[in-house]
Amino acid sequence: MSRVFNFSAGPATLAEDVLKQAQEEMVDWNGTGMSVMEMSHRGKDYVSIAEEAEADLRELMNIPANYKVLFLQGGASAQFAAIPMNILGDKKTADYVCTGSWSKKAIADAKKYCEVNVVAQPDAFNTIPDQSEWKLNPDAAYLHICSNETIEGVEFKDLPECGDVPLVADMSSNILSRPIDVTKYGLIYAGTQKNIGPAGMAIVIVREDLIGNAMPITPSVLDYQKQADADSMLNTPPTYTWYMAGLAFKNLKKMGGLEAVAKINDRKAAKLYACIDASDFYATPVEAKYRSVMNVPFTLPSADLDAAFLDGAKKAGLVTLKGHRSVGGMRASIYNAMPEEGVDALIAYMQEFEKANA
Ligand SMILES: *Cc1c(COP(=O)(O)O)cnc(C)c1O
Repeated sequence: MSRVFNFSAGPATLAEDVLKQAQEEMVDWNGTGMSVMEMSHRGKDYVSIAEEAEADLRELMNIPANYKVLFLQGGASAQFAAIPMNILGDKKTADYVCTGSWSKKAIADAKKYCEVNVVAQPDAFNTIPDQSEWKLNPDAAYLHICSNETIEGVEFKDLPECGDVPLVADMSSNILSRPIDVTKYGLIYAGTQKNIGPAGMAIVIVREDLIGNAMPITPSVLDYQKQADADSMLNTPPTYTWYMAGLAFKNLKKMGGLEAVAKINDRKAAKLYACIDASDFYATPVEAKYRSVMNVPFTLPSADLDAAFLDGAKKAGLVTLKGHRSVGGMRASIYNAMPEEGVDALIAYMQEFEKANA
């Protein structure tokens, strides 16, 4: 059996080293005679796994001590509601930048709990409106952005300036892709199944002073203060996903940390975009400045060619390249775990397909 290069947007490819280690430890973790899946989340073995994962994430992202790191069920989508419920405090409104499909979903849920002020929204989701055009509300509880729109392939390149208003970022598809300054954010959240590990969990990194004032209607499992007090074990956490995330963090450390990872990511994205730009056959709708380093949407000259492209790709071991149903075309998700050889193989296939079909 040989592995394919899987360009899925999520659940997405995992590093082979991580999968192999999980396989090695599958039936007997560290001499305990049981799988991680079979352990009590309150036992000392599992607690050590959970704590080590948090410590490694803190080290990788350089997370200051005054930030809580939470490991929660419900994916990133649960946080769409949890964020206003937890950090609105005595404010009534929150600012949102609407840059694509995931921003829209975050806004739709936030509207159930607060007044949403959409500070900017481009006519087409292929760019980020210039900050000079944003209509920020200085009295907003927070400013929410989606730092990388997974479906449209649009990524923030500059940190928004929002003064004392806490910045909240959905980093589901670009967390850990490069070093960031956590202190510039009030809250960072990400579902795990894009750039970390398996599905079933969200990681929330939140500044301590923003929590502890949740709305009374907030379900306990979504109450950041209660979860922080319980070390994210108010109820049973997604133990295996948490463990797998920990293996992924160790793997990133082994690769040299986020500086080293960013170099590889930039190189992978640059060569794929260069391939698209060099051809009259392929095109990408995203404005060059805001092109995502993680999710690369591209089109062929005619949608009639899509099926043949995907078919040939599959035969070459390159799978899940179909674009999201809402935008069509192709999308190559090239997260941390996508080896550079996978991108090289995709480029070689694209050039070959162009030659045969141009
Ligand atoms: C996938 C995704 C989500 C939703 O994640 P779930 O874990 O499925 O809830 C939210 N935001 C972004 C940017 C995503 O890519």
